[in-house]
Amino acid sequence: MTAEQLHTPCYVIDRDRLEENLKVLRGVMDRTGCRILLAQKAFSCYAVYPLISQYLCGATASGLFEARLCHEEMPGRENHVFSPAFRGEDMPEILSICDHIVFNSIRQLELFGARAKEAGLQVGLRINPQISTQPSEHAIYDPCAPGSRLGVTLDEFRKAPANLVALLDGLHFHTLCEQNSDDLETTLNGFEQQFREWLPQMKWVNFGGGHHITRADYDIPRLERCIKRMSEGYGLTVYLEPGEAIALNAGYLHTQVLEVQHHAGAMDIAILDTSAACHMPDVIEMPYRPPLRDSGLAGEKAYTYRLGGPTCLSGDIIGEYSFDSPLKEGQTIIFEDMAIYSMVKNNTFNGMPLPAIYLKQGSNYTLLKSFNYADFKSRL
Ligand SMILES: *Cc1c(COP(=O)(O)O)cnc(C)c1O
Repeated sequence: MTAEQLHTPCYVIDRDRLEENLKVLRGVMDRTGCRILLAQKAFSCYAVYPLISQYLCGATASGLFEARLCHEEMPGRENHVFSPAFRGEDMPEILSICDHIVFNSIRQLELFGARAKEAGLQVGLRINPQISTQPSEHAIYDPCAPGSRLGVTLDEFRKAPANLVALLDGLHFHTLCEQNSDDLETTLNGFEQQFREWLPQMKWVNFGGGHHITRADYDIPRLERCIKRMSEGYGLTVYLEPGEAIALNAGYLHTQVLEVQHHAGAMDIAILDTSAACHMPDVIEMPYRPPLRDSGLAGEKAYTYRLGGPTCLSGDIIGEYSFDSPLKEGQTIIFEDMAIYSMVKNNTFNGMPLPAIYLKQGSNYTLLKSFNYADFKSRL
């Protein structure tokens, strides 16, 4: 199938770009001995799990369902799971399919830690090093913000009963979001200073996600120095579990212009067959401006439009973009960087259809999934 034959709206996963990212990550593993996992919450399109498994060590899950997906679709690979609070009823299955479990509190460690050990899993605890490195407008993405429910602070850790601390094979921190390795280094300095006395008794440390390793300006040598500090200094295996970095810039959202509106004294509007609220919710939640192929900022090129979705939500606006020529009804435009936090987050608000998913290899496209009315109705 060619690009012109795709049915919009649709996501396209670019296999070649994905593989380029995987090669970068593999390079870090080969040079440092660290182990890199896919954080499935960012990207769970399991059709490409066989490719990902060729390069990475496995995956990490936010709970039972993602853990099951890894178990089924990355057989034989490492299967890690973390949750802010596990449910007792999920434990038998989690313990039968995972090899690493990370608890978020001393209470959860007390509830489930010994059982996890008996089942043969490695047990970890998420730490909150209380070092915020994110801009304050990113507070919802900052697990170190005051009052955070994520991770155990040094004070809490010190009070933990010795028999529970003795269950731990590793420590885990996740504090970054789309950040470079200078912020990792800042976090690691604090983590090491706070938890140094317990590191010799651990087998591993997990640096979490949020490392934008496959971004052009990412400082990989500094990341590798951070990894070696832990592996050579304390004999620890270092895990990284990026989501974004794995499929960064490796996917697109193709969408069609349904209508062009002109309003007196206001910017022209194009209504698309894709919705920010349904198909790229991070545009509203994060918020951020998705890159759009062959476009400029408002006013930069000759024709500027506000791009909006077909839902009832007044704020279903993707942003303001400019073009060299006027947009036309029926024309396809292509949003970039749409593999991550898109398919995993979409919804059918307003009865919006879910975009189909295609795989692009070279200039050839194959349909992986399409959705219809039954997918909307069956969830309600
Ligand atoms: C979100 C998350 C990740 C992945 O984060 P990215 O920003 O997609 O790299 C990894 N680990 C944990 C615990 C997370 O919550």
